[in-house]
Amino acid sequence: MILDSRTRAAALLSCAAFFLCACGGSGSRQTATVSSATVDGGVVATTSVLGALVRSVAGGAVPVDTLVPVGSSPETYEPAPQDVVRLSHARLVVLNGAGLEVWLEKLLRAAASQQASILVLSDGIVVSPSSLPAAAGRSQSARAFLNPHLWLDPIYAQAYVRRIQTALVRQFPAQARVINQNTAAELARLQQLHRWIQAQIATVPPSKRAMLTFHDAWYYFDKRYGIRDLGAIESSPGKEPSAAEFAALVDRAKANHVRAIFAEPEFSRKLADQLAASAGTKTVIDLYDDSLGTEPGMDSYEGMMHHDVSAIVAGLKI
Ligand SMILES: [Zn+2]
Repeated sequence: MILDSRTRAAALLSCAAFFLCACGGSGSRQTATVSSATVDGGVVATTSVLGALVRSVAGGAVPVDTLVPVGSSPETYEPAPQDVVRLSHARLVVLNGAGLEVWLEKLLRAAASQQASILVLSDGIVVSPSSLPAAAGRSQSARAFLNPHLWLDPIYAQAYVRRIQTALVRQFPAQARVINQNTAAELARLQQLHRWIQAQIATVPPSKRAMLTFHDAWYYFDKRYGIRDLGAIESSPGKEPSAAEFAALVDRAKANHVRAIFAEPEFSRKLADQLAASAGTKTVIDLYDDSLGTEPGMDSYEGMMHHDVSAIVAGLKI
């Protein structure tokens, strides 16, 4: 059945109202307004980082909008009714999957049944469970244990770009030539980025290549570049460690001579600072991973990664 746009939007808003009520969250609701980028028949990506990859492929040929605002965490985001309006206009919805957007997956799939095609970028990639030792015995579903942060490995980002290319060409065949040219250029930039990261990490003595982070964003990056991943302060989004878990983190940091505790600006730095103080190390609190930054040069995937890798290498060399 094909619904007109007004009927489609009403159906989705009804679905959103149910979804938002069912969530019943008491935390602060991030406000997302419908931006001027909301255009009939465009692409909606869930996060700013995925949106940047989609824009690099789409160029100016296809309008691209994003849902989670820059500076917000996609793992704790609560969708607003306006998000459904955006989805109701989309021809293609791009999400990461692997448990990142549990707040919206059901909604996105409902939207897809109405109009939009859905591209789940992690589909077809073997996703690792969370590597966090503190994850053992957690009561959430097994799906919540997956580590969704594949995009922070530029090789997986290349796989994402290829999948975006295929989906965009399928949805916008008239723009195929531009999309294919953009894809080739983006894949080359990502390969160049990969080589640069390899060279940067090579400047860090192997004994210092270990990361302990606020949340488990850097697992795939660490695996790709030979960095020991020592887990994270939060064992799942929004869950602070118990006293015993915190003590174990301090012991782990000391035993591995961790050079710095890495965190993101969208989260409180309190726990990272406490862990660094207890372990006798420093805190690096300006890593961007789930969201782009607002500073100059941070509005692209490559810009974000250049900043982060520079901060990581400097932190590991402390
Ligand atoms: Zn994350």
